[in-house]
Amino acid sequence: MSKGRQLYELQEVDLEIDAKREALSHVMSRLGESEALAEARISLGEEEEHLAELERSQRDGEWEVEDVRAKAALLEEKLYGGAVKNPKELASLQEQVENLKRRRKGLEDKVLDIMTEVETVQQKVSLKRREVARIDEDWRAEQASLSKEQAELGAALATLEQKRGELASRIDAASVELYQALRRKRQGRAVAKVEQGMCQGCRIVLPMSELQRARIGQELMQCSSCERILYVS
Ligand SMILES: [Zn+2]
Repeated sequence: MSKGRQLYELQEVDLEIDAKREALSHVMSRLGESEALAEARISLGEEEEHLAELERSQRDGEWEVEDVRAKAALLEEKLYGGAVKNPKELASLQEQVENLKRRRKGLEDKVLDIMTEVETVQQKVSLKRREVARIDEDWRAEQASLSKEQAELGAALATLEQKRGELASRIDAASVELYQALRRKRQGRAVAKVEQGMCQGCRIVLPMSELQRARIGQELMQCSSCERILYVS
């Protein structure tokens, strides 16, 4: 087998290794925390806090209503109990009772408004909880599939690297070194096929003498234009 062909085969494996490494790094970048999930959780937390606040003010409002109701009941007892006879005092008691009743009505309306808001926010919270659960489920499924992909790519890379080692060990060190240097310079493609007398690396038509030497394949031939190692199949 010509050295050109050996290096070409090595390049095929190296290109596959490059592609798998890139795929692996893409997989790795997607493994881990999900921003969308974190955001959905924060948003849910805020809504839950809002709900807790509203429920607190509902309870406070209800206590206030109860307080005013009890005060009014006490005054009404006095008003209708018969112990107070003074008309002025009775009129004043009457007025206080009326005031408390008005106040109670106002407070009850406020509590009703809060209750309506509580209901709305409860719906929002339950929507957001479902959303978080959905995103979480999707994320878990995605992570599981990424982990599987990661393992598969890792195994494929191990096989390819072993193959690469075997191929490289059959080529002399100087040629491998030249190949590596050219790979760095030529975006991973150090070896070019020759087809119809043309270097497929730079599309230049090779001089007849170069072409013939490349065909014989005994020595390592480089394209005079792009420097790539030539391989005639
Ligand atoms: Zn060339």
